[in-house]
Amino acid sequence: MIPANFPLLPGATLGVLGGGQLGRMFVHAAQQSGYFTAVLDPDADSPAGRVSHHHVHTDYLDGDGLARLSRLADAVTTEFENVPSRALASLAGDVPVAPSADAVAIAQDRIREKAHFVKCGVACAPYAVIETAEQLSAVTDDLLPGILKTATLGYDGKGQQRVASRGQLGAAWMDAGQVPCVLEKRLTLDFECSVIVARGHDGQAVNYRAQRNLHRDGILAVTEAHEECVPPEIAKRAAEAALSIANGLNYVGVLCVEFFVLADGELVVNEMAPRPHNSGHYTIDACELSQFDLQVRTLAGLPLVEPRQHSPAIMLNLLGDLWLAKGPQATEPPWAQVLALPGTHLHLYGKQEARRGRKMGHLNITGASVAEVRATAVRAAALLGLPSPVTSA
Ligand code: ATP
Ligand code: MG
Repeated sequence: MIPANFPLLPGATLGVLGGGQLGRMFVHAAQQSGYFTAVLDPDADSPAGRVSHHHVHTDYLDGDGLARLSRLADAVTTEFENVPSRALASLAGDVPVAPSADAVAIAQDRIREKAHFVKCGVACAPYAVIETAEQLSAVTDDLLPGILKTATLGYDGKGQQRVASRGQLGAAWMDAGQVPCVLEKRLTLDFECSVIVARGHDGQAVNYRAQRNLHRDGILAVTEAHEECVPPEIAKRAAEAALSIANGLNYVGVLCVEFFVLADGELVVNEMAPRPHNSGHYTIDACELSQFDLQVRTLAGLPLVEPRQHSPAIMLNLLGDLWLAKGPQATEPPWAQVLALPGTHLHLYGKQEARRGRKMGHLNITGASVAEVRATAVRAAALLGLPSPVTSA
């Protein structure tokens, strides 16, 4: 249903639950279009809170904080996957909320998420639900070697354990505290890709072409986005699957669906994120509308148009490790040298402390051709001490 006062025009206030880097880039996009912004985040020094017009500095489930946010904001979205869906449900009584608490709750729980993929007819990796000791012993050997993933609260590879035998599986489940988990068969991946969809209150949906992702240690390291990196037929199937997953949820907002591509070209859905995604950060510099612009439009009920890409792009994630390469005392990476390369766009999130594995920023690289973008990415990675970033042949 489209709220009565929609579309919300510039001058209105857009709210976001969560103050991390995704919230910060949402705030930037909203402000660029003339909206006011309100962020709710428990951290006084959050990346989004620092740049927003209003910062409600309370816990996500604090009744007063949520009431303040709903008074300040004309509509509210979320940026952080583990924001309790109860917070969204409670806000929805007072103010339009997108995505819905229901959609976020499904994406937060791997068991419900996989059931949704199956319902939409999109294949996922063979898996078993493990909530009880009986389910643990009923696991069939064809799921091994596998990956045991906690059903909730995992991100960046956290909450995951690789298991090769039934003995290891039992020990891993004990180690996870016997919380609900899924055991997924470990697949041999040719590569990974993702599709970002934006869907409005009226059901209209647009998407970016599939981008190719390289993970290191369970964390996204590189995204490559241009027509050569995901074959057209696979990109088409991935887009269709992502749209059917969004439609099946009656989703409103930006949704990212991550896929595995197997050696025989089979496409397998991995998981979804009910928000803009790290693999879509290249859209800020390489597309006419970024994923954050589309998040603003879906939230405000403004028209969606196909987000055309005007340049091939590579994104390098900048983790805290880069600051700690010379020892425990953080030193700043050589930005001036990196920025001397034409086509580099530096995005830093304003986080005060560099920690290993912590996402501090990203570097987008654009150029006139795929070859140029790749050459620049190789040079930038070398300056930063990162491995070669080219993800496809
Ligand atoms: P994030 O939310 O940051 O994307 P996550 O913690 O939710 O990460 P997953 O997406 O489940 O983790 O897995 C992280 C990475 O681990 C995947 O992108 C892939 O590289 C690898 N991986 C996960 N599951 C499998 C699998 N079944 N077979 C092979 N590789 C896998
Ligand atoms: Mg993932």
